[in-house]
This record gives sequence, structure tokens and C-alpha cells, in this order.
Amino acid sequence: MSNQITVNTQSAANYSYQVGTNLLEEVSAFIEKQIGSEKVFVVIDKNVYQHHIESINQAFQSRFQKMVTYVVPPGEKSKSFDQFGSIVDFVLNQGVERSTPLVAIGGGVIGDLAGFVAASVMRGIPLIQVPTTLLAMVDSSIGGKTGINHSTGKNLIGAFYQPKAVFADLNFLETLPEKEWVNGLSEIIKYGMIEDPEILHQLERIISENGFTNPEKWQSIVEQSAQIKIDIVSRDVHEQGIRAFLNFGHTYAHVIERVGNYSNYSHGEAVFAGMYGAISASNQLGATIDSKILDSFKALYNFDLASLKTRIDEFPPLMLKDKKAKNQQIRLVLLKELGKPYVQEVDDMKIVQASWVEAIQSFT
Ligand code: ADP
Ligand code: ZN
Repeated sequence: MSNQITVNTQSAANYSYQVGTNLLEEVSAFIEKQIGSEKVFVVIDKNVYQHHIESINQAFQSRFQKMVTYVVPPGEKSKSFDQFGSIVDFVLNQGVERSTPLVAIGGGVIGDLAGFVAASVMRGIPLIQVPTTLLAMVDSSIGGKTGINHSTGKNLIGAFYQPKAVFADLNFLETLPEKEWVNGLSEIIKYGMIEDPEILHQLERIISENGFTNPEKWQSIVEQSAQIKIDIVSRDVHEQGIRAFLNFGHTYAHVIERVGNYSNYSHGEAVFAGMYGAISASNQLGATIDSKILDSFKALYNFDLASLKTRIDEFPPLMLKDKKAKNQQIRLVLLKELGKPYVQEVDDMKIVQASWVEAIQSFT
């Protein structure tokens, strides 16, 4: 069973996002029909390769004369110049035409890295995204951002490059470690907060009934989440306006990730804590949101911010360094109420400081 959503990119290049189970046959059929190449490149995460290569081979090898596979070591370190260069070398040495498709199979790391390769080789070869983490399914595979990291910061080199299609095959989630489920969970909670609080109730129900098993039970929530992201990026392809709403909790999260050297806290953990900060700032500016709404998910997370308690003074200035800060002002995505986000430049440091105290205290 699967469902299809059209992603509008405000150009001729609209594409479909499909979510369901057992989609690999459809991926392969789509490539044959829409792109019609005899050769296909597969760039795949090593862990995904180990668990799933047989079903991928089965779906692809019958349709393509040549399936050329490049296996990428797992982890953020792979979003590097070196790895980018190796894959570009590989693709060019193997022989590639402008119409040869590249299928990216993995989490956000693979989507960003392989996506940037596809954007760069011959100024762009057809890209098909097959996200295999919850995070990639509901977030990073949508919106056309591709790229790698630089020694001076994350995602500093890259391009907007839209795929021909995204296929979120829930079967991949059967092998996803619990920590990675939780990482994706934060973005789903975020969608609930900024767009549709009903998602939070659904999420509680799914988790209490299934935990992080039975991925097919997650189809509706993945689809609703993807739809929210698609709606927002379709209305703001190049990130000038409402796309900022997707940053709810993230201005805090980026600081937490940074002071944790990008290793002590995962992105999802940082975002989860960041949302407590954003709720606090929202309430200081007039909202009346009960952060208990997040508390029911807390037990799923396993991190502690006690070591940051004495460093809170450092954090507001670091928010100014956020890529999305403008004119030396702290710009926060806040809520008027659940589901009603707005962007606010906050210059009252007392508010920012107090919101940090609340975020950190929630995890000590
Ligand atoms: P994200 O999607 O959160 O950005 P990554 O691309 O870094 O994350 O993937 C997170 C981790 O999950 C990596 O170690 C990767 O190898 C692993 N992984 C990705 N998809 C699967 C899967 N379907 N089953 C098992 N492990 C997976
Ligand atoms: Zn995020």
C-alpha cells in the first residue's frame, strides 16, 4: 500500500513523494519508465547495504543491464570533500551520461552527499531519493537541499537540487536503531507544534501501541509529516519566508549541538530540548502553551543537559551566529498558540536568557 503526494517546486520540475511498504519494485519501474536508462548508479549507506542489499538487487537487477553500487561509510564524517570527490571520480570513471540516474539510499547523510554528487556531475544527472531513516523520510529528503560540510561549519557547500522522485519505503525502518527513530521523532513533534497538534496525539498512540516496531503503522504519520514539509517548501522553495517555520526549536538546537561538539547530543535531542526554549520564549511574549505537551515524549529521550547549566550566559550570543540570524538580531520561530507559528526578532536578552534556563532545567 502506498500514497503519493506531488511536490510543487514552482518550476516545471514538480516531482512525487511516495510513502508506503515494499516500494522498491516501484522505484525500479519508475526509473525504467521515466528515465529509461540501461545503467543506474546506487549510492548507499553501509549499514543499509548490509541489511537490505538483497531486496534492492532483486528489484533493480532485472530491469537494468548495469547497476553500479557505491557504498558510503555511515556517519556525518562522510559529508566531506573527500567522500564527495571519491563518488564523483567513481561515477565518471564508470561512465555516465546526462540521463544516467543516481539513486541515493540512506539517511540524511547519503541524501545530502549523493544529492550533491547528482547535482554536480555533468551539471546535474537525474536523482532519486530513497530515504531510509525516519528523519530523512519526514524531513531531509524533501526540499531539494544537498551538500557537504566544511571545516568551518556544517552544510556550507551545496546546492538546491530537486530529485525526480522520493520513495519512502517503510520497510527500511525495520532495521533502524531506536536512537535513530528518536532522532526523527523530534521533527514529527515539531510539525505537530507548528501546524497540527493532533499529530502529537496520534504519535502518542502509535508509540504506546507499537513502540518503534511495525513501521507500516507509521505510514499515516510519516505521510502527514511529509505533507506539512512539502506544503511549506512548495510555498517557499528558496527559503525566504515561511520556510523559517521549519526552524522551530532549531535556533536553540544549533547552539546545543555546537557546544556539545556535534557529538554529545544528536540533532533530534537538541531539537527536542530546543522546543522547550521556544515554548518558553513564546509564553513570555504572550502565549499560554503548556510544555506538558512535550513531556509525554520525554521518557523516550535519554540525555541530560546538566553540564550546560553553568554556561547559559554563553548561549544567547551564540544564537547570533546562527546561519539564519539577520542583522545581528536573534530571530526566533515562536508560537502564538499550538499550530500558529510566527517569526520574531527578539532583542530583550532577559527573555532569551530565561528561555534558556527553562530549556536546560527541563533536562537536568
Ligand atoms: P539522518 O537521517 O538522521 O541524518 P544518517 O544518514 O547519519 O542520519 O543515518 C543515521 C544512522 O542510521 C547511520 O548510522 C546509518 O548507517 C543508519 N541507518 C540509516 N538507515 C538505516 C536503516 N534503514 N537501518 C539501519 N540503519 C540505518
Ligand atoms: Zn531538524
